[in-house]
Amino acid sequence: MKAQPQASHFIDGAYIEDDAGRVIESIYPATGEVIARLHAATPAILDHAVASARRAQGEWAAMSPSARGRVLKRAADIMRERNRALSELETLDTGKPIQETLVADPTSGADSLEFFGGIIASALNGSHIPLGRDFAYTSRVPLGVVAGIGAWNYPQQIACWKAAPALAAGNAMVFKPSELTPLGALKIAEILVEAGLPKGVFNVIQGDRETGPLLVGHPDIAKVSLTGSVPTGRKVAGAAAGQLKHVTMELGGKSPILVFEDADLESAVSGAMLGNFYSAGQVCSNGTRVFVHRSLKERFLARLKARTEAIVLGNPQDEATHMGPLVSNAQRDRVLAYIETGKAEGARLVTGGGIPNSVTGEGYFVQPTVFADVTDGMTIAREEIFGPVMCVLDFETEEEAIARANASEFGLAAGVFTADLTRGHRVAARLEAGTLWINSYNLCPVEIPFGGSKQSGFGRENSAAALDHYSQLKTVYVGMGPCEAPY
Ligand code: NAD
Repeated sequence: MKAQPQASHFIDGAYIEDDAGRVIESIYPATGEVIARLHAATPAILDHAVASARRAQGEWAAMSPSARGRVLKRAADIMRERNRALSELETLDTGKPIQETLVADPTSGADSLEFFGGIIASALNGSHIPLGRDFAYTSRVPLGVVAGIGAWNYPQQIACWKAAPALAAGNAMVFKPSELTPLGALKIAEILVEAGLPKGVFNVIQGDRETGPLLVGHPDIAKVSLTGSVPTGRKVAGAAAGQLKHVTMELGGKSPILVFEDADLESAVSGAMLGNFYSAGQVCSNGTRVFVHRSLKERFLARLKARTEAIVLGNPQDEATHMGPLVSNAQRDRVLAYIETGKAEGARLVTGGGIPNSVTGEGYFVQPTVFADVTDGMTIAREEIFGPVMCVLDFETEEEAIARANASEFGLAAGVFTADLTRGHRVAARLEAGTLWINSYNLCPVEIPFGGSKQSGFGRENSAAALDHYSQLKTVYVGMGPCEAPY
């Protein structure tokens, strides 16, 4: 199986290679096979990408919003037409099952391009401010050349979630995918150019954690939007602060799901499973601390165990497969180590807990795992695992559940399952999180803002709110009479 792209980077509307860069091997996580060999960007490639973006940005920003919107919407249409091929590539890039990628990856990227393509004509307006004889007006102007840096769990979606609002607002972008999933973003760049995007407006360079800082530190980059872990976020935000650059930080989480005694049991189990096992648990907003009311706990665990054991693990290219491998061997080792820590610290293993016997070969598979009787101080209840490991904790009162749910440095997302409408809203109001779901979990349509609070980051992706993070206000004061001075 091979998925070798024409070249490693896509700059100024074309593929380009520089063999001098460090080799990046793209590995298919289901088999361990090397499916492509790419090169990290050299300083010359990085400079070329930023210079191309800089040159193209003015022309792009000078186009009318409707004309820019048409390009983005055409790109969305092309992505939908090629959904299967893009999904197959995403599955090779990440190991996620085709059952998921067909409905969640290129499609959500296309949704983003379509949404921002559609709203820019009306969403980028400024205001007129009457001042008696004089007046002022404001306009929303682009930041310039912005950098996008992606994580490995949703390579195509992340590229589009960053590119669509950035480009809609008139910026140009240099995007660096994760070194573990270098393939998808190149296809997005190709499609944007095919849709009519002027050359140089969206560029992709490959690279790792040594390349990232060079991109962040480049003097012509005005803003950095990162999707990644909290430790990386601290480094990137720190470097950006040193040069007073704008940042959007989409970071990690350890989100709580609260299941009250009146919750619909099957819905709550579905929400907990969606919030822990989708993408083999490699989702930032996952609800990995599931607080279940004590009166419901054993019934909840029984259904959860039965349904979890029915998850089909295996070949991600088979449409019947529910769960594929983790992205890399290192990530699998990390997750297995957390599982061992959970056992050692006294959590009760309900199901899973290791490498599945059913899957043979070199893939990086881990069983969907549920721990019960987890307590707040355990390592698995505090740290982001980023794998298919659910922690079930139990509680007695609403007050207690809210306090314990909030006792985390993270604040990305949260969920509440209850049949009591007032309780749903009351609890949602008090949970410290950027995005909350009531009787649902992990749905992120482009229409709603998405992003974190506390250590999970700041800035928002999706919705009109994202445009605020890729543009700035410009104010013009207009004097309508003589300019008077006291001297
Ligand atoms: P990571 O932090 O290891 O890497 C993210 C990206 O940053 C990669 O492209 C990497 O090459 C780059 N990078 C690493 N060090 C850098 C530096 N010093 N300067 C600039 N760039 C640098 O994250 P990951 O392991 O790829 O992804 C998993 C993490 O991402 C998890 O913590 C997860 O919660 C988080 N995540 C968050 C969201 C969100 O929207 N909030 C979405 C997906 C993933």
